[in-house]
Amino acid sequence: MIDGSIPPSPLQLRSLPRARLQQFLSQLDARRLWGTYLRPLLVERSPGSPGNLRVRQFLERELRALGAGWHVELDGFSARTPRGTIPFANVVATLAPEAPRRLVLACHYDSKYFPPEEGPFLGASDSAVPCALLLELARALDPELRQAKEEGSPMTLQLLFLDGEEAFEEWSPTDSLYGARHLARRMEKTPHGPGASQLEAIELFVLLDLLGAPGLSIHSHFPRTASWFQRLVGIEKRLHRLGLLESHPREELYFQQGTPYGPVDDDHAPFLRRGVPVLHLIATPFPTVWHTPADTEENLDPPTVRNLSRILVVFLAECLGL
Ligand SMILES: [Zn+2]
Repeated sequence: MIDGSIPPSPLQLRSLPRARLQQFLSQLDARRLWGTYLRPLLVERSPGSPGNLRVRQFLERELRALGAGWHVELDGFSARTPRGTIPFANVVATLAPEAPRRLVLACHYDSKYFPPEEGPFLGASDSAVPCALLLELARALDPELRQAKEEGSPMTLQLLFLDGEEAFEEWSPTDSLYGARHLARRMEKTPHGPGASQLEAIELFVLLDLLGAPGLSIHSHFPRTASWFQRLVGIEKRLHRLGLLESHPREELYFQQGTPYGPVDDDHAPFLRRGVPVLHLIATPFPTVWHTPADTEENLDPPTVRNLSRILVVFLAECLGL
C-alpha cells in the first residue's frame, strides 16, 4: 500500500538545503510558542476536570484556526478508574485524512491528579511543553502543510493530543494510558484504504513526553526506528555546527547515541504492541521535578524548548518532503 513516491527508508530522505532550513527556522516564533500556546496549557487539567475541558477546547480552537484546514475530531469515551467513571477525550487532528500514509506526532494533554493539599500540579514538562511544541510546529509550517495537502502528498501529518495518560493512583495496565489504549483499539478497527486499518497507515509514531526541563537527554529505544533517531542526531549536529542552537555546548547534547535506560511505559505502548513503528522522545533520566509541584513554567529551560522546536521543525520538513 506504500505509494512509490514515498522514500522507503528514512536514510533516503533528503536533508534540507541550507536556505530552506533557515526559512523554516525563521517561521518559528518563540514568543508565540511560549505565550500563545504554552501558557494557556499551564493549568490543572486532570481528566474530567474543568481545566481539562478548557485545555481541550483551546487545542481544538487553535487547530481549527490553522490555514492548512485540518480535520479535527474528538475521540470521546468514558472509562472506569479508581476514582469512578470518568469522561475522557482525545483530540485527533489530521491534515489530509485521505492520504495513504501518516506521520503521527503525539503527546498527552492531561495532568496528573493530585489532591488539593498536595497541589497544584501543572505538569509543565509533563506534558504541556510537548503539546505547545506540536501546536507551534503546525503553525510554523502552516503554508507548506497547506501546499502539501493541496498537492495530494502521499504522506500526511496527524497530531494526537491524548487524554488520561496519567494513573489516578498507582500506575498499572488498567490505571494509565486511558486515551492511548482507546484510540489504538479504535484505529485498529477503522479501515483506511483497501484492506488496511488506520493503524497500518502510520509510517512512524513519534511520542513526545517529559520535555522542557534543563539537562535534557533523549535516547533511541527501539532498533526498528534507530535510523529515524539517527536523523534527529544528525539534525542537532548540523544546527549546532551552523550556530543555530542556543546555549548548546556540544554537538550531541539532547539526542544521544548511548545505551538507553530501557523502555519506558507511555502512550506509545498500545500502538507499539499492535506493530506500529515508534520513536519515543522522552527525557531519560526523567526531569528532577517529575510528578512534583515544582514542574512549573519557572523550572523549564527556555533555550531547550526553543532548540527542540528548531530540531523538530527540520525533522518534520524532511520527513514530509516540504
Ligand atoms: Zn506524568
